[in-house]
Amino acid sequence: MNTRHLAILGATGSIGDNTLEVARANPDRLKVVGIAGKKNYEKLAKIADEFDVKHVALYDAKAYREAKDSGLFSGRNLYSGEEGLTTVATLAEADTTVAAVVGTSALRPTLAAIESGKDIALANKELLVMAGKFVMEAVRRNSVKMLPLDSEHNAIFQCLNGERHKDVAKLIITASGGMFRDFTREQMLSIKPEQALKHPNWEMGPKVTIDSSTLANKGLEVIEASWLFDMPAEKIQVVVQKESLVHSMVQFVDGSVLAHMSPPSMTFAIAHSLMCPERGKKVYEPIDFTKAICMNFYPPDTVRFPCLAHAYKALKIGGTAAAVFNASNEVAVAKFMEGKLPWIKISEVVGKTIDKLGGSDPRNLEEILECDARARMEASKIAGALAG
Ligand code: NDP
Ligand code: MG
Repeated sequence: MNTRHLAILGATGSIGDNTLEVARANPDRLKVVGIAGKKNYEKLAKIADEFDVKHVALYDAKAYREAKDSGLFSGRNLYSGEEGLTTVATLAEADTTVAAVVGTSALRPTLAAIESGKDIALANKELLVMAGKFVMEAVRRNSVKMLPLDSEHNAIFQCLNGERHKDVAKLIITASGGMFRDFTREQMLSIKPEQALKHPNWEMGPKVTIDSSTLANKGLEVIEASWLFDMPAEKIQVVVQKESLVHSMVQFVDGSVLAHMSPPSMTFAIAHSLMCPERGKKVYEPIDFTKAICMNFYPPDTVRFPCLAHAYKALKIGGTAAAVFNASNEVAVAKFMEGKLPWIKISEVVGKTIDKLGGSDPRNLEEILECDARARMEASKIAGALAG
């Protein structure tokens, strides 16, 4: 029986909560040795106390100063900024870094963790979408494991166990369809942030919930799957699975399909990714097959939800186009949340930014970061014009 020693980046978020729940249920298998967040130091302090964590990082400088003055971290090492995140991600005591920060700010700390030989349990899909080429190169060069923690990718990872790459016909990624799956275009015109922040099946952080409502999340996951499993866009299909009981499937060249099922709780994927090839203790009640269960599958509607089509386009263009997809989507979602852009225009901002910037083959990480900054500027301009 192996024990993993975890450094959790994004410990105060929704994935952080679920990871800690899994660790609580499996104390002999999972030890938390480092935690990091952005601002929420009171929650970090509670986690540090419960799991007796010696190393804590806060990205935000003001929150770091307040945390230091609060006395809540006495006897622990408190770090700040990107450097602080990197310190936690590369701790000598840790063998595994859980990447569960929202957005792209944990890119360098995660790369540093890979370079220092840590396995990565990846929830933070934006990192692969933005810099998949360099992240996966670093994983190979350092012979570390990239453990998929996103539920769809973990499902595929489980279905692929022992199979040959050449026997895979396609990866089939399931989607709930989001909050507005049955909305008409007319209804979509007046969607408010508080409506988009409700997910029909999952409890998640705000950004991924909004992305689920536009299918941008599924687009990010298609690109993530392409990097994780080395598959081209043509071999990745998306299907709506309304109940979120089937988390993804793999179809093989002989026509057989394997699927992974569980109730919609991230604890299943997290437990598997952190304890495979063994299984951990049950955290959540499994599906009850003594009751009638209905499952609906249907194709996604990329006319009403164009973000998914934009993601495929970015994946086919290749190079930095995926970083443009991610950055422009982040800008558009932020504008929507601020009440400065209608929900229905989020996909237009993304599509127009990709059309304007396209993609080129990045030679290094700096070129990706430059492209990310340029995409954010372009997307802001486009969003401004569309809002007015
Ligand atoms: P949340 O918004 O719930 O949490 C975000 C976490 O990231 C918080 O701990 C936050 O800290 C931290 N954070 C944000 N910015 C920084 C930063 N610059 N430096 C350090 N920490 C930072 O997000 P989720 O947990 O929902 O999502 C996290 C990632 O996992 C995303 O990439 C998402 O797409 C992915 N994911 C999420 C799923 C889910 O079920 N929630 C499912 C699959 C993937 P603080 O609290 O201090 O602000
Ligand atoms: Mg997912």
